[in-house]
Amino acid sequence: MILLIDKTKQRLGYLEGVLSSIVNVVLFAFKLWAGLLTGSVAMIADAWHTILDTLSSFVVLLGFYISGKPYDKEHPFGHGRAEVIASIVIGILLTIVGFNFIKDSFLQLHEKKVIAYTPLSIMVFGVSAFVKEGLAWFSIRVGKKVDSKSLVADGWHHRSDAIASAIVVVGALLGGLFWWIDSVLGFIVSAFILLAAYDVTREGANILLGERIDTELKKQIQKIIEEEAPDVTGSHHFHVHRYGDHLEITLHLEMPGDYTLNNAHEIATRIENALRINLNVEPTIHFEPQSDNPDIHAYP
Ligand SMILES: [Zn+2]
Ligand SMILES: [Zn+2]
Ligand SMILES: [Zn+2]
Ligand SMILES: [Zn+2]
Repeated sequence: MILLIDKTKQRLGYLEGVLSSIVNVVLFAFKLWAGLLTGSVAMIADAWHTILDTLSSFVVLLGFYISGKPYDKEHPFGHGRAEVIASIVIGILLTIVGFNFIKDSFLQLHEKKVIAYTPLSIMVFGVSAFVKEGLAWFSIRVGKKVDSKSLVADGWHHRSDAIASAIVVVGALLGGLFWWIDSVLGFIVSAFILLAAYDVTREGANILLGERIDTELKKQIQKIIEEEAPDVTGSHHFHVHRYGDHLEITLHLEMPGDYTLNNAHEIATRIENALRINLNVEPTIHFEPQSDNPDIHAYP
C-alpha cells in the first residue's frame, strides 16, 4: 500500500496483485468446499480469510488505477487516498469476520460438536500452505530486489496465511484424538484474521493521522538541497502527507539573512523543482534567515 514510484515497481505490483488474486480465488473455492463438507469452523474461517485477501489485493489494484486519475476541482490533491479509505473499509470487514468466527468457535465448543475431517479436506489445506509459501517467497524476493515495502509486506502476509493453513493441517491430523480441536483451530484462524485486520487498518490510519518523515527520504531531500544550493545553511521542520500517487512535503530552509527576497525565492524554487523531478513529491518551502536565536522559528 506504500507508494510505488517507478514503473518497474508498479508493474511488479500489478503482477503480484493479479497472481495473488487468482491463487486466492482458487484456494477459496477448494477451502470452502472442504469446510462445508466437514462442517469445520476452522476451515470455513480460513476460506473466508482467503477471499478477503483477494479483496485486499483487488483494492491495491484499484488504488493504482484510481490514484492515476489526475486532480480535479473538488480534489486538488488528486485521488491517491481512495486506496487508504478502501483499506480501512477492508480492515473493518476483516474485524467483523474475525469476531464472527470466534463466536462460531465458541458455539461449537459449547455444543461439543465433533468434526470428522476427510483426508481430501486435509489435503486441500496442505496444498494451500505450500502454494501460499511459494507466493510469499516470490513476493519477498521480488520486493527486496526492487526495494518495494508493499511487496515485501504482502509477502509476509502470504507467509502468515501459509502458517494458518499448516496449523489447520496439523490440528486436523490430530482431530481424532481431541474432540475440541476444531474449535481451538477456529480461535487460532480467527486470531490470524484479526491480525491481518489490525495490519491493514493501522497502515491506512497512519496515513490519515499523519506520520513522521521517513529517515531515508529525509536524507535524500537533504542531499538534493546540498547539491542544488550549497549556500543553504540548514533545513528542518519536514512535514509529509501521503496521497498514494505523490507526497506533499513542506520544509524550512535556512539561508544568510542578507539575501534579497528575489535571491531566496530563486533558491527555494530551484530546490522545489529538483525535488519534484527526482522524488515525485510536491514541495512547499518556507525560508528563514540563518540564526542561533531559537525564537526566530515559529516552531522547532
Ligand atoms: Zn475528483
Ligand atoms: Zn491473509
Ligand atoms: Zn514562488
Ligand atoms: Zn523554521
